[in-house]
Amino acid sequence: VRDWPAAVAFTTRTTFPPVKKLAPQQRKRILVTGGAGFVGSHLVDRLMFLGHDVVVLDSFFSGNKTTLSHWVGHPNFELIRGDVVEPILLEVDQIYHLACPASPKAYQRNAVKTLKTSFIGTQNMLGLAKRTKARFLLSSTSEVYGSPTVHPQPETYWGNVNPNGPRACYDEGKRVAEALTYGYARQDGVDVRVARIFNCFGPRMSADDGRLVSNFVVAALRGEPLQIYGDGSATRSLMFVHDLVTGLISLMDSSYADTPVNIGSSDEGTVLSWAEAILSLVRDLRAAGQISPLPAGKRESVIEFLPEVVDDPPRRRPDTTLARETIAWEPKWTVQAGLEETIRYFAALLAE
Ligand code: NAD
Repeated sequence: VRDWPAAVAFTTRTTFPPVKKLAPQQRKRILVTGGAGFVGSHLVDRLMFLGHDVVVLDSFFSGNKTTLSHWVGHPNFELIRGDVVEPILLEVDQIYHLACPASPKAYQRNAVKTLKTSFIGTQNMLGLAKRTKARFLLSSTSEVYGSPTVHPQPETYWGNVNPNGPRACYDEGKRVAEALTYGYARQDGVDVRVARIFNCFGPRMSADDGRLVSNFVVAALRGEPLQIYGDGSATRSLMFVHDLVTGLISLMDSSYADTPVNIGSSDEGTVLSWAEAILSLVRDLRAAGQISPLPAGKRESVIEFLPEVVDDPPRRRPDTTLARETIAWEPKWTVQAGLEETIRYFAALLAE
């Protein structure tokens, strides 16, 4: 007990990533729900770098307690463990509402909870925005287009969603969240933005969440088969997470509030072509000595085809004309550069 003051002195944290110094009138108090998740944690990083006060509300349903550990103790940062399904009283200027499990594996674990998160959780956060007069941004999804009959998908397309299939808890949850958001805007004058996010990837994706990039990268690094559901001809467009974060902040800070805005990459490729690209990048990074060699006794991964998954959309590509015209946004990262960063991240993670 006598050593207690010294121990406290030694554990006081003074080193953090650098943040901008903003004048008090420029500094916003920003709530990020789901801020401990994959996208949320990168958004929090950027808002912190920009010098804002950031409050994260996360239940850790699919997030990770370590994604934001580098900010814990920073005077501009606060992490609250809480569920958006319960109302919360806070004073904020902006709300980025991201809380919702995003990988099929996570959102199908408890379909009813996923729906409650999207419906009741969004209603609670809109209620908070109404009370505090905060600007509210909903992270919606390309899944609202379901299995699209229009290609690429513009925001004016209403979608083709199975309302009772295994993915309905997520797709219909987001559709009701959009309806609620515009309901609060029309009825109560809440200042809202809606981002329809298309496939995004990057460091801090969960290694076992079953999403395309994490699945393929982790399998390639472990020397295990890359498993493709179906014949690999389904297409996906991939966006690197830093581009998404730029898009979300640009939309939040823009004056465009009329309709949802697609945020995604038009770099469309078949699932098979992404698997081959990842295999080849892993091979190159190994040859360059940037990541560890294959584990002992393992051979380079092969591609394996499994039965198709129910309601998996065959084609996805955003029409991003609106994003370009209204918020001057388009992706800056090439998929290759993003994939290399992601491969290096997972290689370091698996080596721990
Ligand atoms: P994620 O699962 O990594 O993060 C979601 C976060 O929300 C997690 O930290 C989780 O613990 C938290 N959360 C879940 N339910 C909650 C609840 N009831 N209360 C409080 N916190 C809760 O997912 P992500 O990929 O970071 O996605 C973030 C948002 O972006 C989601 O709303 C998702 O629908 C949307 N989105 C993501 C993508 C993508 O490609 N990553 C694509 C389209 C839309």
